[in-house]
Amino acid sequence: MDLVEYQGKQYFARYGLPISPGEAADTVAEAQAAAGRLGYPVVVKAQVQTGGRGKAGGVKLAANEAELTEHAGNILGLDIKGHIVRRLWIEKATDIAKEYYASFTLDRSAKLHLAMVSARGGVEIETVAEEDPEAIARLHVNPLDGLSMEAAAELVERAGLDPEAREGAAEILIKLYECYIDGDADLVEINPLVLTTDGEVRVLDAKVTLDDDAAFRHPEWAEMDIMSEATERERLAKSKGLSYIALDGSVGIIANGAGLAMSTVDVVSQVGGSAANFLDVGGAADVQVMANALEVINGDPSVRSILVNIFGGIVRCDDVARGIVKALEEVDISSQIVLRLDGTNAVEAHRIIDETASDKIISEGTMLSAARRAVELASVPGPEGGAK
Ligand code: GDP
Ligand code: MN
Repeated sequence: MDLVEYQGKQYFARYGLPISPGEAADTVAEAQAAAGRLGYPVVVKAQVQTGGRGKAGGVKLAANEAELTEHAGNILGLDIKGHIVRRLWIEKATDIAKEYYASFTLDRSAKLHLAMVSARGGVEIETVAEEDPEAIARLHVNPLDGLSMEAAAELVERAGLDPEAREGAAEILIKLYECYIDGDADLVEINPLVLTTDGEVRVLDAKVTLDDDAAFRHPEWAEMDIMSEATERERLAKSKGLSYIALDGSVGIIANGAGLAMSTVDVVSQVGGSAANFLDVGGAADVQVMANALEVINGDPSVRSILVNIFGGIVRCDDVARGIVKALEEVDISSQIVLRLDGTNAVEAHRIIDETASDKIISEGTMLSAARRAVELASVPGPEGGAK
């Protein structure tokens, strides 16, 4: 589960990391009120689950209310890499002397944690990583040893941080590591970590990915209201016994068996589309299971078409067909369903579907043609002429 910046900062704050005061705002009026309380100058920041907001015009300094009103108005509704901005974070502005980078993540191949620190943080970090990888100092941390103050100090020195920033940065690394470990994060990243003109080291941006499987030992996650919409759907699916993972695309996928579900995701990409989810209904795709699966996918606002790819072995295609018909009766399914049913009782299944004569269902003979059709439907603009 990825947190947006301000949720990440609130998470950091629990572990004592120095963040600037700020408030979330969903409207220009709320932004004005927040800035009034914080005091100008402030930074207006788009809260979307993607990086590169600064370059996309989603991070702006405002010296007074007129500037704030203009920036808040412009940034709300902005499309940043397909994410529409609905929430802002208004933060007291910092006078920056230097921008650094710091992160912890899991290095799966080394089977160790990996700390990365650079003196060249900021919006160009990707370019730095590509063109001058030496500018990023790395340190593997064995979870059994943890991170000592000495190791943190050595790392920031090796990264070339300015001498006056080193102590503050090393202290931040220790807290960040604690947040990463005790907080059950898969990634914690600060970019930029700044040295202020007053000589303080502070956290100006936060990227946090939490390990969903650790949710059971973090009741505070629910309190912090950090459950994303996709996570909520994943929970609903789990409660219905479905194995569902939300993805970024627009074609909803239902298949039986993890292998077929993965292949379906691949075939959708192969024909130029992208899957909105992975959903394996397993070996018991009966009427209720199919109805549940359609209900879960129907709840995803980014789904534009649904591809049902079932190969009947033990699963009977006629049961699947009945499930779809039942779901159509019970739930108001907003997308068209492209159906590829093959295997046990497929003939009977097609008879059931034909009898229904719903214009919501389209049958296709092969997995490839079904994927093509679903991708085609997903790329047709909706009734409002855009994403739902
Ligand atoms: P990102 O582009 O999505 O990574 O968004 P960031 O939160 O990292 O902001 C992008 C850039 O905006 C930073 O690298 C800073 O240069 C600048 N920025 C962010 N906050 C402040 C601030 O408080 N004061 C100043 N002067 N610049 C800021
Ligand atoms: Mn950043």
